[in-house]
Parts: sequence; C-alpha cells; structure tokens
Amino acid sequence: MPACWPAGLLACWASPIFNHDRQVIGVFALYFREPRSPNALHHRIAQTCIHLCTVAMERERSRERIHQLAYYDPLTQLPNRCMFHRSATDALYAAQGRAGALLFVDLDRFKLVNDSQGHAAGDALLCEVAQRIRAAARPGDVLGRLSSDEFALLLPHCSAAEAETVARRLLERIAEPFTIGDAVNIPHASVGICAYPEDGTDIHTLLRHADQAMYIAKQQGRQRWQRFTPAINQFTQDRVAMEHALRAAMHNGQLQLHYQPQVLSSQPERLHGVEALARWKHPEWGYVSPLRFIAVAEDAGMIQEFTSWVMESACRQLAAWRADHVEVPQVAINLSTKNFHEPQFAQSVADVLRRHGLTAKDLVLEITESVMLDASPATLANLDALHRLGLQLSLDDFGTGYSSLSYLHRLPISELKLDKSFVQDLSNSVAAEALIRSVLGIARSLHMKVVGEGVETAEQRQWLQLQGCPVLQGYLFCRPLAPEALVTWLRGGHAQPPLAAPAAPATAYDPGI
Ligand code: C2E
Ligand code: CA
Ligand code: CA
Repeated sequence: MPACWPAGLLACWASPIFNHDRQVIGVFALYFREPRSPNALHHRIAQTCIHLCTVAMERERSRERIHQLAYYDPLTQLPNRCMFHRSATDALYAAQGRAGALLFVDLDRFKLVNDSQGHAAGDALLCEVAQRIRAAARPGDVLGRLSSDEFALLLPHCSAAEAETVARRLLERIAEPFTIGDAVNIPHASVGICAYPEDGTDIHTLLRHADQAMYIAKQQGRQRWQRFTPAINQFTQDRVAMEHALRAAMHNGQLQLHYQPQVLSSQPERLHGVEALARWKHPEWGYVSPLRFIAVAEDAGMIQEFTSWVMESACRQLAAWRADHVEVPQVAINLSTKNFHEPQFAQSVADVLRRHGLTAKDLVLEITESVMLDASPATLANLDALHRLGLQLSLDDFGTGYSSLSYLHRLPISELKLDKSFVQDLSNSVAAEALIRSVLGIARSLHMKVVGEGVETAEQRQWLQLQGCPVLQGYLFCRPLAPEALVTWLRGGHAQPPLAAPAAPATAYDPGI
C-alpha cells in the first residue's frame, strides 16, 4: 500500500466504464480509508454509478458531436457559416466601435479543379487552402468557411490599410504550389475587403459588402483584392435590378432576336446565312447592350434559360421563314462557355431542332476560344455529342483569345470568324493583314470556312475578297435586322440564297484531349 496516498485513503477498487461499443471511456473508482475489498453493497453501488456515468458521458459526447456537426465544417474543420456569424457577432460587440475589417475570400476557378481533377482533388485543395488561411490568421481573428469555396476572416483591431496588407499576404500564401496526385496546382483566390464601422456594423452587412467587393476583384481579372466602396454597392444594386428585369424580359416579349446577313464574298448578293443577335429594349433603360445583359445572365445562373430562349426563338423563326418560302440557308447562334457545363445541352439542341422540323445543318453554333480551353468532362461530352449530331461549330472572335492553334484540328470546328477588330485594322496595320492571311491559310489547310466580321468599307471587302475569305458579314452589307425587316431586305433583292450552299467540310475530331 503506497504510504503517499492522500487524505488517508488506504484502498482503491476501480472498474472500467464502457460505452455502447465496448470501448473504455472512463474509470469508476471506490476509495477506502482502510485496507479492504468491496462487499456486495459496494458492488451494487458501483454497478449503478457505472451505468449512470455511461449515460452521462455518452450524452456529453453526443452533445459535443452534434455541436461539431452543427457549427463546424466536416471537411476543413473550420467553423461553418452559422458559427462564423455567432463568433463574428460576438467579436463585433466586443470591439465597441473600434476599427476592424472583414476579408471575403473566394477561390478562382475552383469548379475547374473539381470538374477536371475530380472531387477528391477538389476536397484536398479546399483543406489545403483552409489550412493556409488559418496559418495567416492572428490569434483573436475569426475564421469560417461560408460555403463551397468561400471563406471569411474577421480581423478585429485592424485598420483598413493593415487589412490590405493581410489580404496581399494571404493571396501570396494561397498561391504557393500544391501537388494533388501528379498535378501541381497553384490555387488562386480573389478577396473583398470591407472595414468597420464605416462599411457596416453588423455581420450581415459586412459580409454582403465584402462579397460585393470580391465580385469586383473577380471582374478585374481575379487573384487580387478589392476594397469595398459605396459605388460598388450601387453597381451591385443595378446589377440585381438588371437580373430581375432580364428574368421578366424573357417572358414578357421585351427580348427579341435580330438577324444579320452573312454573304458570299464572291457573290455578295447571295446569302450564306444569318447570325442571330439578342436585343433587349427595356421600357425605361432603352436598348441594353447584349454584352452587358449576357454577362448578367451568366453571373445570375440564367444563361441556360437564356440560351434555350434564343435557340427556341431562332428555330421557330427559321421554320416560319421556310414555311413562307423565305430562303435563309442557316442561322448562327451565339453560345456561352457555361452552356457546355449543362450535361443535357447537346440533347436540348437536338430536341429543339426536332420540334421545329429542322436538321443539324440548319444551325451553326458560335463558340469562343474559352470553350476550347475548358477541358471539363461535361464540355467535352457536349462537344462530342454535338459533333455526332452533325452540328457545325464556328469559332467566334478568332484571334482575340488565347489563340492556341493546337485545338483547331482536334475539335469539330468547321468555321472561323475573324474578329472584327482585325478587319477594322486592315487599313492601318500591316500586322492585321499578316494575321488575316495566316488565318486564311490555316483555315484552308484544315478545310474550314472563314467569316470576315465587321466589314464596313468597300476597301475591307475588296481586300478580303482578294485574299479568298469566303464569307463576309458587316454593316457594309446590312446591320442586324428584325425578322420582318430582314424579309423586306431579302425581297429587295439584296441577297439571294446561294445556288448550292457551300457544305461544311468534315473536320478530324479526336475528343480524347
Ligand atoms: P459577336 O458574336 O461578335 O457579334 C457581332 C457583333 O458585332 C454584334 O454586336 C453586331 O451587331 C456587331 N457588328 C456586326 N457588324 C458590324 C460592323 O460592321 N461593325 C461593327 N462595329 N460592329 C458590327 P452586338 O449585337 O452588340 O453583340 C455583341 C456581342 O454580344 C456578340 O458579339 C455576342 O458575343 C454577344 N451576343 C449577342 N447575342 C447573343 C446571344 O444570343 N447569346 C450569346 N451568348 N451572346 C450574344
Ligand atoms: Ca458571334
Ligand atoms: Ca464575333
């Protein structure tokens, strides 16, 4: 018996406490002031107490687990949105008017990692970034994961200038290379900063303003930070108003398609096809540029609905023209990169064609180079399916994007559209001339058509004609017109359908990029 036992205790009888899985979660001990072993009463007391301890300890563990699940993100172990709100609200209350800041961090192109490298890689990236933000935080800062790839960091006792320094360091830290499997990723993020009390005093307002500033950082090219300003708030409100108005416009007839003729350069009186261009006339704002409202549709997740509307309207119009013996050989439709993320996109194109009694060669789908660079499985599957359906793909604004020529022969592209900026530079730029010549050469060798866009002068037309650019489009021939105006234009004898429309040459297509 150890002589050093405290309080005169001379014997101890201990029993393990088990949980329901027969794991030991504690020990119940009876101590005696004399050396002895337990009697029957002691056994009964111990049994009852062990049972009560099991119940109490398991309940405490469940409570902790529920708390963890309710307030912490299971992937990164960071506080979730709910917990972040609570802790940030407490910190703001404790600040009592002293200055601080909130950083809203959003990963750039996270979806691309998820789509191209798989969800396990996406999860690994999120955990690593969470760890990097945690390492950059000071004791007392409040950090949380708000949703998939959004994090918030509240910096109490921090001036706006200090917050900008933190944001800069955070961006550098996040951008350190990180290997997942054999792929080296350089995670990038955009950060919105707002300061309190000037930009808001409650966590809801601060988060909203920091989120708005983050959106501007993304718009300005990503991998940067942006401080909130009242002008940003106004911009966001205008954008939200436009989003609501656009949603309504799709159903109340304010949206229309206009059609711009494309003519054969060798016979400008012959129509090659038309390009459908969206027009929106708002009762108060007047005409809104498609560049503006299409960006809003993309941001607001409305682009699928918008493109369905375009596709449906254009096919209905083409079928109506055909029924009226107005000969329009084909309609070109502009697509957004995001359309290709919709797994059913190619199928929806086939459905709309069938509904209107049209065939694949009646439509040309204009895509931009960003579709080519987006190697997500949904995009590749849609490109492949559209190719199988026999649809013609046209590469719009060619020469302005990344201009990696390697994809040209690997993807089912049958047409290149020379961007109008080159055509318009023709008179004063030798480089524009050289570029157009080489594009025409590449297209010829890959059996692709070329459409020269933005032809405004007789000189531009003549030069393009001389170089063998087969199709021309621009104000010189005709502006985009409402359907009835196009019929009048056609009946005025400005352009007749070609005697034999040039067939889209088949291109080699290897979807395995
Ligand atoms: P884009 O696809 O490059 O369309 C050509 C733009 O050039 C049109 O502008 C057209 O009106 C304009 N244009 C045509 N000929 C000339 C010319 O000779 N000179 C000049 N300076 N401009 C000419 P618009 O209609 O304002 O459309 C702008 C952009 O908005 C389009 O560029 C396209 O990217 C996008 N867009 C328009 N409609 C749709 C649509 O239905 N869906 C999608 N996703 N995008 C669309
Ligand atoms: Ca276009
Ligand atoms: Ca274009």
